[in-house]
Amino acid sequence: MLNVHTDKVLRAITDDGAFRVIACDTTATVRGAIAAQKPATPELMRTFADLLTGAVLVRDSMSPEHRLQAILQGDNPRSRMIADTHPDGSTRGLIQLPADVVEMPMLTNGLLQIARTLNNGSLHQGVVQVPAGSTRVSPAFMSYMHDSEQTVTMIAVGCHLVNGEVVAAGGYMVQLLPELAEGPLMVMTERLKDFEDIVPLLARGRASPAELLAETLYGMPYTTVGEREVCFGCRCSPERLAQSLASLPRSDIESLMEDGKPLEIECDYCCKHYEFTTQDLHSLIDAN
Ligand SMILES: [Zn+2]
Repeated sequence: MLNVHTDKVLRAITDDGAFRVIACDTTATVRGAIAAQKPATPELMRTFADLLTGAVLVRDSMSPEHRLQAILQGDNPRSRMIADTHPDGSTRGLIQLPADVVEMPMLTNGLLQIARTLNNGSLHQGVVQVPAGSTRVSPAFMSYMHDSEQTVTMIAVGCHLVNGEVVAAGGYMVQLLPELAEGPLMVMTERLKDFEDIVPLLARGRASPAELLAETLYGMPYTTVGEREVCFGCRCSPERLAQSLASLPRSDIESLMEDGKPLEIECDYCCKHYEFTTQDLHSLIDAN
């Protein structure tokens, strides 16, 4: 009964130049990533969904032309999840937990790292501590925007689950533009208290990007200045996998062909299956 659903990011600026709002619907993107990664519990699903949505918002705000990865590390440094979102809107995710671990608490020692790949290939990175005692991802994204990007930003991301199915996922970000006076800031801060948790809005089917803009900017004239699509999508391909195999030392490639059987590889992000015959592997060595 899941309809074909297109995810969207909308951005608007208030006509007085005080606020910028970015709102997104990530329902289909989150469904795709969850189907590939199969988080074991609703709590893990929510955290993963929120990380994906937060990454989409931060990329749209800070770096729409660049790839952005948001990496969340739990209290256990061996547990982490990654959201990876690209300028064409394709977004994927990865959950890495130690064996037999199905939750990723981040109450005391969680970290959120944001990495952007700039056009010259260099990385721009920032890391913040997940605010202590926080069970949600939004405060960590706000703290990142404040510490690393020096912008006052309010972010709310959420995911509405029913019986382990994603019914809706999305979020918004309100940014205070630099020339802002105290008055409107207080009005906005007061107003957003009603929307700090957007899951109730998602549950009522009232959290489309257009509705989120209308709710957060109620009574303030604004203009929608941009719209982009987002979707679940992986960048893997036989060529990319061959490239990374080719970068292995020759002896490693040789040991992969020892048994004469084709090498089977599954993409960690989307679970797509790839096969390399011994002949393929030979030609990788020859090309080296
Ligand atoms: Zn893939």
